[in-house]
Amino acid sequence: MPGIVRALTDSDLGHGGTFSPITKPSSTAIKTKINGQSPVRIGDSYPSHTLISGEDVHPIRAASTGSSKVKIEGSFVHRATDSISCGDTAATGSDDVIVNS
Ligand SMILES: [Zn+2]
Repeated sequence: MPGIVRALTDSDLGHGGTFSPITKPSSTAIKTKINGQSPVRIGDSYPSHTLISGEDVHPIRAASTGSSKVKIEGSFVHRATDSISCGDTAATGSDDVIVNS
C-alpha cells in the first residue's frame, strides 16, 4: 500500500545502502500538505548521493514514477516504492495517505 512521499519526512533506499547519504526529496508541491508535510510528485528532485566507495556519483536525481491517476498541483504523486531517475527507490511514504494507482 504505497503512501505519498513527503519532503522532510521520507527518504530513498540509497540503492540498498550502497550509496550515501540517504536523502530526502528537495522539491515538492508548494500549497498542498500531506500529514503536515509537502508532498513529492514526479519530476520533483532528490539531492545527489555517492557510492560509499566514492567511485560513482548520481548528481541529478528526480522522482521518476508515481500514480497514473492522482495529481497534486498538476503533477502525478510519487509514492513509497516508486522509482527515482538514477535507479534508486523511494523507501518510505505516508502511513495513512495511500494512492494505489
Ligand atoms: Zn542513485
